[in-house]
Amino acid sequence: MATRAIRGATTVRTNTREEIISETGVMLLEMLERNSIKKEDVISVIFTVTSDLNAAFPATAARSIGLTRAGLLDFPELNVTGSLKMCIRALMFIDGIMPQSEINHVYLNNAIVLRTDLLKKEHRVAVALDGPAGSGKSTIAKMAAKELGFIYIDTGAMYRSVALYCIDKDIDYNNEVQVLRKLDNINITIENANREQRYILNGNDVTDLIRSPEVSDGASKVAAYKAVREKLVAIQRELASKQSVIMDGRDIGTNVLPKAEVKVFMTGEVEERARRRYEELHLKGMAVTFEEILEDIKKRDYNDSHREYNPLRQADDAVLLDTTHMSVEEVKDYIVAEVKKYIKEV
Ligand code: C5P
Repeated sequence: MATRAIRGATTVRTNTREEIISETGVMLLEMLERNSIKKEDVISVIFTVTSDLNAAFPATAARSIGLTRAGLLDFPELNVTGSLKMCIRALMFIDGIMPQSEINHVYLNNAIVLRTDLLKKEHRVAVALDGPAGSGKSTIAKMAAKELGFIYIDTGAMYRSVALYCIDKDIDYNNEVQVLRKLDNINITIENANREQRYILNGNDVTDLIRSPEVSDGASKVAAYKAVREKLVAIQRELASKQSVIMDGRDIGTNVLPKAEVKVFMTGEVEERARRRYEELHLKGMAVTFEEILEDIKKRDYNDSHREYNPLRQADDAVLLDTTHMSVEEVKDYIVAEVKKYIKEV
């Protein structure tokens, strides 16, 4: 065994005791989990907090995750211009056998870039993840966003919400004129609850209602209407202008965020994509057959890549990843590594 050091950093949205304790606890747990460390192997943890926070609560946070014997110490940081706001950092010393070069440091809640003043340009990273249905985009995007502390934006959920609105209001989604007449009545927002994203359609949480095959079909129909796309793309760009994001969809790299720092186009054999989607829906308790899913995916692939406005297409500067034989971890690690490479370069 030798002494190793793991870095951790996170931010809070409110300067409250509860949030500081809970986010510190989450960060400590992630530091242990991502390095497969047992609590008994932690020797000590040094914490610092930025001067805009009233206090750190190292002992309470450590106890809340069952870390009771490690030595703890915390310091306030200097007030550095350009430093990340409301940030808690930790340096954890452990007894370990892995080389220091294999340690996974942990940066949560946008805390990956700690000193924006040291970067050459205003630092917001956008990752554009495009590809056909079932290529694994949303699973990968969620995992990578969590690891990087970025916000995940599922643009498909927005097209699905428009389709659900039409179905609920008896509007024929195959009829462009009918849909466009009601477009101004559709208000879509995203809320974060318990670190999960919820999609809100006209004040109602529709997150769990938009995965059915009927909604999938409607989504790919309304997604072909120019005015629908313009409305949703404006919301998507606005969201990405405020924070580092991983956005998944069909036209993110080509149209929504053409200047995204990292662009990946994910594909996979259609049967494998259908199998993944089938398993996902089955786990959610939906009564669908594999054949239905396969048909749905083939139809949507066709619609999405043959429509006039912003069709599904690989951006010229996107990396192509065929995920048929790749594990979820491999794809996620690839994306996280690309983002880290970019951040090191600027
Ligand atoms: O990704 P997901 O399967 O949830 O997307 C549902 C539908 O929304 C897609 O089949 C596609 O027609 C449409 N879509 C789109 N552009 C995006 C995201 C989704 O046209 N950026």
